[in-house]
Amino acid sequence: MNVQKDVIVAGGGPVGMVTALALAQRDFNVTVVEADAQVDTNPRAATTHASTLEMLASIGVIDEFIAAGLTARYFDFWDRDQSRKIARFDHDLLRNDTQFPFVVQTEQHKLVRIIEAKLKSYPNVTVLRGTSVAAAEQDANGVTVTVERDGVQEKLSGHFLVGTDGGRSTVRKSLNIEFEGYTWPEQFLVLTTSFDFEKALGSSYRAYFAGADEWCNLFKVAGDDMKGRWRAVFPAPVDVPEEVIMSDEAAQRRLNGIFRCDEEYELLHKNIYRVHQRVAASFRKGRIFLAGDSSHVNNPIGGLGLNCGIHDALEIANTLAQATDANDPLLDRFERRRRTMNIEFVQQQTIANKKRLEEKDPAVRAKNLDDLVEIQNDPARQHAFLMRSSLLDSVRKSQAIQ
Ligand SMILES: Cc1cc2nc3c(=O)[nH]c(=O)nc-3n(C[C@H](O)[C@H](O)[C@H](O)COP(=O)(O)OP(=O)(O)OC[C@H]3O[C@@H](n4cnc5c(N)ncnc54)[C@H](O)[C@@H]3O)c2cc1C
Repeated sequence: MNVQKDVIVAGGGPVGMVTALALAQRDFNVTVVEADAQVDTNPRAATTHASTLEMLASIGVIDEFIAAGLTARYFDFWDRDQSRKIARFDHDLLRNDTQFPFVVQTEQHKLVRIIEAKLKSYPNVTVLRGTSVAAAEQDANGVTVTVERDGVQEKLSGHFLVGTDGGRSTVRKSLNIEFEGYTWPEQFLVLTTSFDFEKALGSSYRAYFAGADEWCNLFKVAGDDMKGRWRAVFPAPVDVPEEVIMSDEAAQRRLNGIFRCDEEYELLHKNIYRVHQRVAASFRKGRIFLAGDSSHVNNPIGGLGLNCGIHDALEIANTLAQATDANDPLLDRFERRRRTMNIEFVQQQTIANKKRLEEKDPAVRAKNLDDLVEIQNDPARQHAFLMRSSLLDSVRKSQAIQ
């Protein structure tokens, strides 16, 4: 049992908030330092897999999380070039493996709000919003974090620091840890519309469209009003001006490429991202740990990045709770487990998912799509596919690493 109880969490996004709650429940004193004054509501993660739902249940937020989103039993693959659905996968095949044989599509900002509200009832947690981490140092006794609020700097001290401050992590940079990997040459455009693709196309709440000219991801979320809305993700070139890519006309053309609609699509939101596949060379230096996007980023196809970050959060809380102090060799296990799982499951699958959707070679493309049909038609292979894509396999494999 760790006697060093004061933990600073840098970044109060979804991974930081889950880390804070899990640590608070293990009797740590937690200070969350979050740069934004308000919760960021930009559309990002929504797809939450069985393995992660189990973890959200373990920290007592699953009912609210499910109630705030949509439950999706199936996901589909489409051949966009021929406008036909080619395979459907059924999470119910996981019913003997998990209490949650489905995916929950709840937007990540709702998770932040649910947990932030819950943290208010923990006297051992302080959340400092509108406060940025500027630097982090450590010595044999603890960590010192320089924070800045309204132009005024202050130093916070603790026994451990968890950097959950996203892809551009100040904590990772202050440790001089390399963010190894690459950036994809294209950007990802996200269009949100109220148009009902389930009614129009028979689409499930998560659908992947393989296209030699243009691939697409389509998924439904509840929205803050719970009325339902669809997000479509497309590749976009970097050498075309953003105002052209983001124009209403271009957005209408893209959405009509999925389903030709007689009326204009109602556009609710447009956003564009650079996308990377990167893993930090190390997830820990001494008393400082990295979790979530600060330690790994990937393309969103398959919806794995935040799921993996939440797995990091639970692992760090359990590891710190089991360790005796900062010199306990058990602390090394965090990196052995989490870095390995990110590379073997999240990086591998998201890269393969992207390649499968964008393949241009007709023979390779046909083989990829035939493979999906064969997997769908064989219950044992479909089960194995779902165990991997839901990260249930990743959790089991990680527990075996000592
Ligand atoms: C379009 C898109 C769709 C996605 N879909 C999915 C999906 O369906 N499923 C999935 O699992 N993943 C998905 N992802 C990935 C997911 O959004 C990220 O993995 C997730 O946001 C990581 O959470 P995080 O808390 O680690 O980082 P972030 O969400 O980036 O949060 C970091 C927080 O740290 C704060 N911060 C930054 N710097 C500082 C500082 N110096 N001091 C204090 N605070 C700081 C930020 O303000 C922010 O609140 C998607 C991503 C995109 C772009």
